[in-house]
Amino acid sequence: MQKPFELTILGTSSATPTRHRFPSSQYLRMDGEYFLIDCGEGTQMRLVQYNLRMQKIKTILISHLHGDHFFGLPGLLTSMSLFGRTEPLTLVGPAPLDSLLQHTLEASDSRLTFPLNFVATQDKEPATVLEGEGFRVTSFPLSHRIACTGFLFEETGPELRLNVDSCHSLQVPVEAYAAVKMGEDYTRLDGTLIPNAALTLPGNKNRRYAYVSDTAQLPELAKFLHGVDLMYHEATFMHDRLERAIQTYHTTSIQAGEMAKWAEVKRLLLGHFSARYTDLQPLLEEARSQFPDAELAVEGMEVQL
Ligand SMILES: [Zn+2]
Repeated sequence: MQKPFELTILGTSSATPTRHRFPSSQYLRMDGEYFLIDCGEGTQMRLVQYNLRMQKIKTILISHLHGDHFFGLPGLLTSMSLFGRTEPLTLVGPAPLDSLLQHTLEASDSRLTFPLNFVATQDKEPATVLEGEGFRVTSFPLSHRIACTGFLFEETGPELRLNVDSCHSLQVPVEAYAAVKMGEDYTRLDGTLIPNAALTLPGNKNRRYAYVSDTAQLPELAKFLHGVDLMYHEATFMHDRLERAIQTYHTTSIQAGEMAKWAEVKRLLLGHFSARYTDLQPLLEEARSQFPDAELAVEGMEVQL
């Protein structure tokens, strides 16, 4: 059975909330790890509304310091404290976020009841920001008005299953199992080599999710994100506003569709919609003209990878 890898959409609006959409935020479960990706205003309300446990979140990742991506953060952290959190939390984001948050907490006489570990991102090149048992998170630079990164979430566990019967009959010791599951052959003490294929069966493929936050269209990303199982891409405007998108370092729905096509991703999820649109169907149709397997991110929606 495959481990859970599921995304819940909490906010899809750019700049300001609308009647039905909150600013950017997503809740991601990758096996036993819980992440919050961006934390726009209203994130706490969405967590409560969708019955998602805030204390399970171990890592919060902030793509950039425009308010619609992090103004929910001080409130969420102080609520975690009010509910008595003691578990450490890792915060990943642009360097100025650390002192900004400390000032906010100090000025409001708030104290956190748990350790906060800060990991600074940089927007020059891709960098591993977190690595754990069976997963890795990499930040990658985007092209926005201020420093901004996307995040790539990857499973890194073994993709092979042990063929236990063969391992037994070929007398492979248990200590060698981990290496065999990672694809290595086994060499007996007498020098006989047992090829990996004789000891393993195909298992689950590692899955990858790419969060592409605010950015002008960045064709060179297609190679880096090639073949991901799911790509979330901002699609702030329809293509008739291309000029505005270029001025503000955002992407149109056609451009988001092109990115998914060039990167040959499996599925595309569109989000970060301008408040000017009440009906999002036309944005979806534009994206689908380039990449048929596109969907709109809708708040409350759960996407299984
Ligand atoms: Zn922005």
